[in-house]
Amino acid sequence: MRAIVVKPPKPGVEINDVKIDEDKLSTIGLVKIKVLENGICGTDREIVSGKRTSVKPPAGKDELILGHEAIGIVEVGGYGLKEGELVMPINKRGCGKCLNCLVGRPDFCETGEGLVAGTKGLDGFMREYLYDDPKYLVKIPLAIKDIAILAQPLADIEKSVEAILTTQKRVPIWTCDDGTFNCKKALVVGTGPTGILFSLILRTYGFQVWITNRRELLDNEKEILEEPGIIFYNSENGYDNLVKSEGKFDLIIDTSGASASIMQHLVPLLQINGVLGLFGFPRYDNFSLDYKTVQDFVINNRIIIGLDNGQKPHFQQAVIHLASWKSLWPKTTSKMITKVISISNEREVISSLREKLPGEIKVIIRWE
Ligand code: NAP
Ligand code: ZN
Ligand code: ZN
Repeated sequence: MRAIVVKPPKPGVEINDVKIDEDKLSTIGLVKIKVLENGICGTDREIVSGKRTSVKPPAGKDELILGHEAIGIVEVGGYGLKEGELVMPINKRGCGKCLNCLVGRPDFCETGEGLVAGTKGLDGFMREYLYDDPKYLVKIPLAIKDIAILAQPLADIEKSVEAILTTQKRVPIWTCDDGTFNCKKALVVGTGPTGILFSLILRTYGFQVWITNRRELLDNEKEILEEPGIIFYNSENGYDNLVKSEGKFDLIIDTSGASASIMQHLVPLLQINGVLGLFGFPRYDNFSLDYKTVQDFVINNRIIIGLDNGQKPHFQQAVIHLASWKSLWPKTTSKMITKVISISNEREVISSLREKLPGEIKVIIRWE
């Protein structure tokens, strides 16, 4: 079987033949899936560049199959899944020890020993075939096949919004006087795929949404944000003008994954009882807050919350949202997949795994 493999911690990526024990796998209650497509994400590129230190091949191996975004067709079904059905595998698996993992919520794993396909201790999904336990498979309706790959990154965001809204139950009323979030203002930092998906989800929940980058938007990015009414702000010269015209924000989400110093600019933009959600993984620098800002933070019940990874309920929720966006915002959804590369075009597959091109939202590798 062909697969896309890395040999961490060495940088680099190859498309190779790998051996799997099909006789054994087909007899232990697993569903056989023919992989149709993989999505490429920043994590894959970080692994390929050799910069992701937490990446680990399966125990006893020095090679890891890459990929944590996939859709495929059930080839040999059973356990409620029929041949020909479209499914998406879930990437994060439990540690098998802590209670959160044992009830299917390894996103709250307490041992830190959980496996993650394509990243940590478990082979990923960039390969011709998968054998998997049906409990880790999410059904995908054929009607959203063209954008279904987005359900994996969106699941992380669904979980994040759930965590934020659960946390905000601490406030007696955090909705508006008509019971909605229509008067609430959210700021999303970063216009990468996760920033865009976050903005779309928050619009779906009824928030007013601003999105920022420290550069102007490219044409395709503008077009994606137009239909759902997401407002862009160029933060190249800071956020003062934004706060002057719009006031402070009830919710701020950082998806920039760049400098940690951005936090010290975001904390003072928070409204009373507001939430700063950290979703991106800053890669350099640090931040500090003066005592007045910290006092203000305490007095006004503000919160900073870490947001990580979705599980099966969030994948299912993501599927529902993708299906609704196709009719709510058809122009937007039609622009989210920016490139599809055939696996036979090896050179382009490898170069897309190395480098993100300007304006790219989601690149798909298609297995023929
Ligand atoms: P991405 O494509 O690199 O997007 C980051 C965006 O932030 C880009 O649009 C970038 O601009 C922009 N940016 C960089 N510095 C900025 C600044 N100072 N102010 C405003 N915008 C800035 O990455 P992604 O795939 O969307 O992922 C975003 C982050 O989320 C990454 O750190 C990723 O590792 C993390 N992540 C977290 C989870 C989780 O569960 N917590 C899951 C998946 C991913 P340019 O376009 O000009 O570069
Ligand atoms: Zn990813
Ligand atoms: Zn656990």
